[in-house]
Amino acid sequence: MNYPDRFDVIIIGGGHAGTEAALAAARMGCQTLLLTHNIETLGQMSCNPAIGGIGKSHLVKEIDALGGAMALATDQGGIQFRVLNARKGPAVRATRAQADRVRYKAAIRSILENQPNLTLFQQAADDLIVDNDTVRGVVTSSGIRFFGETVVLCTGTFLGGIIHIGLEKQTGGRAGDPPANALAQRLRELPFHVGRLKTGTPPRIDARSVDFSELTEQPGDTPLPVMSYLGHRNMHPAQVSCHIAHTNEQTHDIIRNNLDRSPMYSGVIDGIGPRYCPSIEDKIHRFADKNSHQIFLEPEGLDTHELYPNGISTSLPFDIQLSLVRSIKGLEKAHITRPGYAIEYDFFDPRDLKHSLETRFIHNLFFAGQINGTTGYEEAGAQGLLAGLNAARRAKSLESWCPRRDEAYIGVMVDDLIRMGTQEPYRMFTSRAEYRLLLREDNADLRLTPVGRELGVVDDARFKAFDEKRTMMEQESQRLASTWIQPGSPEADRLKDKTGPLGREYRLLDLLRRPELTYDDIAPLAEGGIDNPDVIEQVQIQAKYQGYIERQQQDIDKLRRHEAMALPASLDYSRIEGLSNEIRQKLAAARPETLAQAGRISGVTPAAVSLLLIYLKKHG
Ligand code: FAD
Repeated sequence: MNYPDRFDVIIIGGGHAGTEAALAAARMGCQTLLLTHNIETLGQMSCNPAIGGIGKSHLVKEIDALGGAMALATDQGGIQFRVLNARKGPAVRATRAQADRVRYKAAIRSILENQPNLTLFQQAADDLIVDNDTVRGVVTSSGIRFFGETVVLCTGTFLGGIIHIGLEKQTGGRAGDPPANALAQRLRELPFHVGRLKTGTPPRIDARSVDFSELTEQPGDTPLPVMSYLGHRNMHPAQVSCHIAHTNEQTHDIIRNNLDRSPMYSGVIDGIGPRYCPSIEDKIHRFADKNSHQIFLEPEGLDTHELYPNGISTSLPFDIQLSLVRSIKGLEKAHITRPGYAIEYDFFDPRDLKHSLETRFIHNLFFAGQINGTTGYEEAGAQGLLAGLNAARRAKSLESWCPRRDEAYIGVMVDDLIRMGTQEPYRMFTSRAEYRLLLREDNADLRLTPVGRELGVVDDARFKAFDEKRTMMEQESQRLASTWIQPGSPEADRLKDKTGPLGREYRLLDLLRRPELTYDDIAPLAEGGIDNPDVIEQVQIQAKYQGYIERQQQDIDKLRRHEAMALPASLDYSRIEGLSNEIRQKLAAARPETLAQAGRISGVTPAAVSLLLIYLKKHG
């Protein structure tokens, strides 16, 4: 049958990408359908019950700044919060939360069910309706035909999914869920470049069978961090500790002696796995000189005894999994509740996409999440938001919004994927961003909430809260810039232990720039200080890093000014030093007319564009 209502945007898949995509499109006023295998698994965490971490929290906060759900659901489901790299500079600080799976999923579902313009429907999408290279809709497994202006595919690890435990394999999208084989087959008939990747998960352990006296306790941070700009500590449920265990020589021997029963090492799995989330088999192989690896035993939730042993993802057979777990101190009597496994799945070369995440071959069809070769909930959620937003803009006949590398980590990720593709599951790191000091997790709202408001994804309540914070920041910076401290005054005297005698008069703002002073030192020196920790953090970072921030901004402005610079048709790329042969060949073949065009060629990195600029300036 043809479904009687027509949609502006149809999203396939209710994982992390699909839920953010659906919410973004619906927030923009588009009639949106979220079609997913199972409504019970909306927002399900397929692997580790944690959100955020280095590079990833930057994405979560950007999703939040643009009105998304991930950070708020984390605040409602988070059972342990920490700020990683807390002693390092603000660019690399990262919030990470251990989440109660059930509470996280419930929070996502509640946000979805209460979102106006959003319709949920449970069924597999088996086919796409494509007409003249334009997608028109979707056909479900029972033959229902949904028509829409745009379609966003967010199918995760489900396309052609095969689950491996030892040398046994079965089809599946993840443990307990069916694969999406009909859709995978259909996509393989379309002109996309398809590849196989794999990822794995560890066995889960019953906490009642663990001897915690042998392990090191790791509590969360105090004061308790929050993930969302609208979040609050009192949203968090009860907080719990993680525990640290270690593998040992015996564990490594067990793994080494059984590698022939591992599907990866016996050649059964072709797909490439995530370099930065390697299986324990990979770790033993790649870091052969290490005789111990850390394992974090992370609670799966408040109402369950299950633990997630982060660090021993494996696809070895169950008997070997049990032996290796029981070789670890504190886990000698451990009971495994679910075996670990690896999963292989189809992904599509992201170089076949535009920066809007629309495919190059089929108009109005967008891809987001693990289908594009990424790994991680945060990477998926960020792409989902962007694809949903751009699908909605297409449905409204508006231009796409494609954040630049200097605006957002979302821009960095999409640009990396589209220019360079990926050979292995792509995850975000702060080191991938050139302008780290501008793209901090603490200022994602300042960077993106005003843009999100214009795009229509930020609602009144979020914008009001943001606007109040921004006004408070401006007023406080102004107060600090106009309040002077005289040498020899009682105020100067109160700072003497840290600064020594002041040689001249100083503004409070200048004093705040000094490394030895904090806001708490200078605020009491004059009337009118504030006690909002978020505002204080911003005022402080902007004062202390002003010089570096301005320099990065100048670099960006310079590059932007030069984007229109012409590249001579006769340019001999083999003479430009520092370019790789691959990039030289690509430039010679494409013959871009401007620096901006060169930068948009797949595989041409921002560093290569800088080398071109230097060459043109020298020889132009
Ligand atoms: P998913 O979360 O996979 O969601 C896809 C959704 O689409 C599901 O709801 C599914 O039911 C639905 N769906 C699929 N096809 C159809 C269809 N045809 N019709 C209707 N609905 C459909 N990430 C890490 O960062 N580190 C790890 O170590 C890690 N290990 C992992 C281990 C395993 C075993 C698995 C399965 C995943 C692992 N991940 C890991 C990846 C992480 O789960 C994903 O990156 C993330 O979930 C991707 O989000 P997504 O929205 O793209 O897809």
